[in-house]
Amino acid sequence: MDVAMSFDIKKIRQDFPNLAVTVRGKKLVYLDNAATTFKPRSVIESGNRHYTSGVANVHRGVHYLSEMATQEYEEARTKTRLFLNASDNSEIIFTRGTTESINLVAHSFGRAFLKAGDEIIISAMEHHSNIVPWQMLCEQNGCVLKIIPINDDGDIIFEEYRKLLTTKTKLVSIVYISNSLGTINPIEEIIVEAHKKGALVLVDGAQAVSHAKIDVQKLDCDFFAFSGHKLFGPTGIGVLYGKRSLLEKMPPYQGGGDMIASVTFEKTTYNVLPYKFEAGTPNIAGAIGLGAAIDYVESIGLEAIANYKKELLDYGTKVLLMIPGLRLIGTAKQKSSILSFVLPDIHPHDLGTIVDGEGVAIRTGHHCTQPVMKRFNIPATARASLAFYNTKEEIDALVAAVQKAREVFK
Ligand code: PMP
Repeated sequence: MDVAMSFDIKKIRQDFPNLAVTVRGKKLVYLDNAATTFKPRSVIESGNRHYTSGVANVHRGVHYLSEMATQEYEEARTKTRLFLNASDNSEIIFTRGTTESINLVAHSFGRAFLKAGDEIIISAMEHHSNIVPWQMLCEQNGCVLKIIPINDDGDIIFEEYRKLLTTKTKLVSIVYISNSLGTINPIEEIIVEAHKKGALVLVDGAQAVSHAKIDVQKLDCDFFAFSGHKLFGPTGIGVLYGKRSLLEKMPPYQGGGDMIASVTFEKTTYNVLPYKFEAGTPNIAGAIGLGAAIDYVESIGLEAIANYKKELLDYGTKVLLMIPGLRLIGTAKQKSSILSFVLPDIHPHDLGTIVDGEGVAIRTGHHCTQPVMKRFNIPATARASLAFYNTKEEIDALVAAVQKAREVFK
């Protein structure tokens, strides 16, 4: 059966008010979901509710509103724990996003447990947020960064990965789904190989959480990072999952309120997990909104979402490839619904501008993965990234807009 038929796309689209916007006098076609996603009404309403009648700080007051805010904040943690299938709420740390989660591990774990000569492995398709923190750490403590190369399809070369793994490898930090190529990495195998050498694994799950059911216990990853805003939740909230035994050993990353047990000028002792890593007033509305986003995604079902997106991806791949000269960047067999492409004689930025004039929002540039651009010897790509509220008609609108750009540049 046509998956699209079994998916109530009309109803789903009504849940996302931002889809009804017009831009430049045209009906918006939003195909920039890898950058950030639109929010369903339930997420928007959760923020409204908090700011209209629920404002209070968490973990601090005994008054009614503070207790309510604390309860909702901690319920969001429970929802996140269940979403990732972590075993305990203490393993769920709220951060600002994937970037902060990775930086937390680099600062805390990296500084405490990695020393000169230790090796960290990343891949050639990492987002800058999974490159730069490790480079900074290497500069500080003399660790060595090793890079798994990728092939012309945008797959990691697994044999090369195996060769890089040695007893010096202490950490493998790798993206689950590439934001610029769409590649879905064989994350289970990557983790198994790393563990054989005694190395820990951090998974950058920024693009993965909206694509597939995540089970951190089954994956057996040591850390998992994601951002709420890529999962139809608010910006400014993210998650670091870490195995409890590791988080217990790690020193705090930032100091301040809430992360302490007691403070004197002579000595400060730290709070228990996860609060040890949540210094200062957290993003309360953001966490509550993330909880609402998780509820929403689960009400649709991740499997149904994945099936529908696969159909969109197949359709998008087919119709884009009909455009003369168009080259897809990222042709891995296992791909999520990200279509990066280049056209001869049209710079992606020019393409993006013309397409935008037609009301179609795509992203053009290096997508915070400059080494990927270098690997493919291109300055940038145009990228259409699809969410489960997109339709085949919207992909047709993209194709028509690209054809228009070709006319302009003929
Ligand atoms: N990793 C990947 C794969 C991403 O796609 C992104 C966001 N584009 C990030 C990390 C960084 O996420 P954030 O900016 O939300 O911290």
